[in-house]
Order: sequence, then structure tokens, then C-alpha cells
Amino acid sequence: MNNAVLSARELLEGVTPLKRDCGSLCACACCQGDEQTGMLLFPGEETLYEGCGFGRVVTANFELAGRRALLFVCDGHCERGARPLSCRLFPLFLRFTKGDTRVAIDPRAASVCPLAGYGLEALNPAFVHAARNAYDILLGDEDCAAFLRALDAELTL
Ligand code: SF4
Ligand code: SF4
Repeated sequence: MNNAVLSARELLEGVTPLKRDCGSLCACACCQGDEQTGMLLFPGEETLYEGCGFGRVVTANFELAGRRALLFVCDGHCERGARPLSCRLFPLFLRFTKGDTRVAIDPRAASVCPLAGYGLEALNPAFVHAARNAYDILLGDEDCAAFLRALDAELTL
């Protein structure tokens, strides 16, 4: 298992986009996927879901950073302490800009998340801060940095 991913998951264990339960605003819209919709798994994260009781790992039909992407497809509920890193970061995203990076609202959140239109300022500062720290840890890992860079490129096209 990738240590950077484990550390990033831990940093986001107890913080949420709002200080209150934002799922009550939208009936947990970001957790209402189907068999074709899943959360992207970070490098190595799939090993945590072998034999998982609330979801499964599926292979995506696209690649990121030269590797076939893996998705976690859940049943619409999970053990909170076991949710994937992508779930913990949502609706945030890491944008690469001219040799630097910045935390931004994930473009994929626009059609799903009612918080997306309000920008970072509307989110719990502790959540944004923890996400920034988590991204910094991920950027220190070669595989995760390549994954984040590829994801940004994919969503910028
Ligand atoms: S869609 Fe947005 S507001 Fe709703 S639960 Fe997910 S992060 Fe919270
Ligand atoms: S794993 Fe949990 S947090 Fe992630 S989409 Fe499924 S129910 Fe939501």
C-alpha cells in the first residue's frame, strides 16, 4: 500500500466540506452512483478494498499516468473510516498552474454538488487546509504526483 495515500486519507479522516453534515443538503448526491459510476482510486489504494463488504473495485476504460485507472463502486453507503481518498477530497481537486499547484473546486462537482458554485470560501477552512496538506504529501510521492498531474490534464482538456 502507498504510504502517501494512507497519510492523506488519515489527514482527511475527521474533517468534512462543511462543519455540518453537507449530505443533508443534497441527500448525499455524491454517493448516488451506479454500476458505471465510481470514485477514482489513488495508486495502490485498491489493496484496501479486497473483500470489501460495501463496494468493489472495477477497472475503468481509460488510463491515467500510463496505468489503467481503477474505480471504487459502492452500494451508496460505506464505513466512514474506510471511504476512498477521492471521497474524502470531494469536492476538491488539485490544479497545476505554471509550475505551482492550487486547490480548487473539482470541475466534476459542478453538476453534482450544491457547494460547488460557492467556491472554496464557502467550505470549512479546516477541510480545505487538510486537503492542501494531503495534496502536499501526495505530491511528494512519484506515483501519486503523476496521477494528480494526469487527472488535472484529463479534466482540463
Ligand atoms: S454532493 Fe457536495 S454537498 Fe452533497 S454530500 Fe457530496 S460533498 Fe456534500
Ligand atoms: S464510498 Fe462512501 S463516501 Fe464514497 S461514494 Fe460511496 S458512500 Fe459515498
